[in-house]
Amino acid sequence: MESIKTIGVVGAGTMGHGIAQVSAQSGYEVILVDAVPEALARGRTQIAKGFERLLGKGKLTAGQRDEALGRLTTVDQLAALERADLVVEAVVERYDVKQQVLAELDRVCPPHTLLASNTSSISITRLAASTSRPDKVIGMHFMNPVPVMQLVEVIRGLATSDETWEAVEAASRRMGKTPVEVHDAPGFVSNRVLMPMINEAIFCLYEGVGKAEAIDEVMKLGMNHPMGPLALADLIGLDVCLDILRVLQDGFGDPKYRPCPLLVKMVDAGRLGRKSGRGFYDYDRS
Ligand code: NAD
Repeated sequence: MESIKTIGVVGAGTMGHGIAQVSAQSGYEVILVDAVPEALARGRTQIAKGFERLLGKGKLTAGQRDEALGRLTTVDQLAALERADLVVEAVVERYDVKQQVLAELDRVCPPHTLLASNTSSISITRLAASTSRPDKVIGMHFMNPVPVMQLVEVIRGLATSDETWEAVEAASRRMGKTPVEVHDAPGFVSNRVLMPMINEAIFCLYEGVGKAEAIDEVMKLGMNHPMGPLALADLIGLDVCLDILRVLQDGFGDPKYRPCPLLVKMVDAGRLGRKSGRGFYDYDRS
C-alpha cells in the first residue's frame, strides 16, 4: 500500500519544476529544492504558468490551483527533505553531481525514504551504490514536458526491491502517468532509441544534407512524429542531449554513439535550446 505523502524534488530546472507541479496537483505535499536561488524562482514561475494553462483549458479550478500551490514549498537546502517519503532528483545529467546529491539525501532522509533519480541514462545500480539503501533507489524517468507526457520509464537497479517498485508504480499512477518497467542499461530504452536519432539528425545538418526546418519536416510529415528531432533536441536541452550521448558512448564503448561535433560546438557556445533562448531555432524566453 502506498504511504507516500510528501515528495521532495531536487533541481528546479526543465524537469524538476514539472515533476513538482504534477506532484502538487496530485495531492502530494511537495518540497522543491535547488542550489541556485534564481533557478528556484524561475521554477516557481514556471509552475504558476503551468497551473494558469490548465486553468485556461478548464482542467483545473482556481480553488484547486490555490490548494496545489499551497502544498508546494521551495527551499535551497537539501536538509529540508528530512520529512520526504519519496525524493526525485532532477539535477544535471552528470554522475559525479548525482552521486553527491544521492549520498547527501541518504544522510538527510529517514530510513524509509525512497530515492528516485530522473536520470535519462546513468546507471541506477551505480547511483544506488552511493547510498546505504540500494533497495530503496530506483529510476523514475519522466518525459518532457512532464505535465503533458504520459510515460514514466521506471528503472530497476540490481538491488531495487519489489516494495520500492510497487510504491513508485502507485505514485506514478496517482500522478496520472503510465509507468513502464525496464531494467538498468545505459540510456534505458527511451534514450537508447531516441538519442541516436537526434544525433543523426544533427549530423544531417552538420553535413549540409538539409536545413534544420527540412530535416524536421521530413520526420514530421514522413514518419508522423509530432515534432522534428532538432526541435525536440531544443526542447530537451542540447547540454542534456550531449551528456546522454556521452553516457551511451562510455557505457557501450561503441563509436556509433559519438556525439556530432556540431552538438558539442553548440553546447560550448551556450546555445542550449529553449532554455537559453537559442538552439537549432530561436525562442522568446519571456
Ligand atoms: P536543467 O539544467 O534544466 O535543471 C537542472 C537543475 O538542477 C538546475 O536548476 C540546477 O541549478 C540544479 N542543480 C544542479 N546541481 C544541483 C545540486 N547539487 N543541488 C540542487 N540543485 C542542483 O536540467 P533538466 O533538463 O531539468 O534535467 C534534469 C535531469 O532530468 C537530468 O538528469 C536529465 O537527464 C533528466 N531528464 C531531462 C529531460 C529533458 O527533456 N530535459 C527529460 C527526461 C529526463
